[in-house]
Amino acid sequence: MPPRGSWGFPPAAEENRGAPGYDATMSRGSIGLSDELNAYLVAVGAREPEVLARLREETAVMPEARMQIAVEQGALLSMLVKLLGARRVLEVGTFTGYSSTAMALALPPDGRIVCCDVSQEFTDVARRTWAAAGVEDRVELRLAPALETLDALLAADGAGSFDLAFIDADKTNYGGYVEGALLLVRPGGLIAIDNVLWSGRVIDPEETDADTQAIRDLNADLATDERVDIVMVPIADGLTLLRVR
Ligand code: CA
Repeated sequence: MPPRGSWGFPPAAEENRGAPGYDATMSRGSIGLSDELNAYLVAVGAREPEVLARLREETAVMPEARMQIAVEQGALLSMLVKLLGARRVLEVGTFTGYSSTAMALALPPDGRIVCCDVSQEFTDVARRTWAAAGVEDRVELRLAPALETLDALLAADGAGSFDLAFIDADKTNYGGYVEGALLLVRPGGLIAIDNVLWSGRVIDPEETDADTQAIRDLNADLATDERVDIVMVPIADGLTLLRVR
């Protein structure tokens, strides 16, 4: 089990909890936007299902709350699932289920999302959320180290068996997750990678911890990777979109 901080947010973000002015009920805003402008963006630019609003409230009291994706990110993932016409989705790092629920709601009734996580505690919340959203039949949870699950999926389902992969788990394994996703996602499919700006630490040469370095190395590699088209979107903590060639 990696240290808590490496799953979804840099240590600095965690230190902000309890700081004056920090409102734990707020979603994490997009990097570089003021709180006020981010609130406006969410108010007019995203439609959050009630079940996800309730999940956000439930998750907000947890110490790991900032591992949850932002509201506008859930809206973007939902949009991408619909635009792709995705039927098979892979998620690495499920936490309490916000992103998986958002994507599952966007799938057709016979669509499937495979969720990889190692936490029984967090995914128990996710299971309840899938049921509340009426999408539990579309979700398959794999409680195991995700690299093992990706290997198993490749062996069982073969290459190119997914339309979309969302990667948001322990950062030091990001490179391995992306390599697995590059095999599992079909040509023309999409890989989305969260936290690629890492609260700006990626450009601070004094930040040399393993998580920051892993993200920095992956970003550098993907910038010239001929297997994909790439756009890095400054939403939430940075989201890289890769279109598999
Ligand atoms: Ca994240």
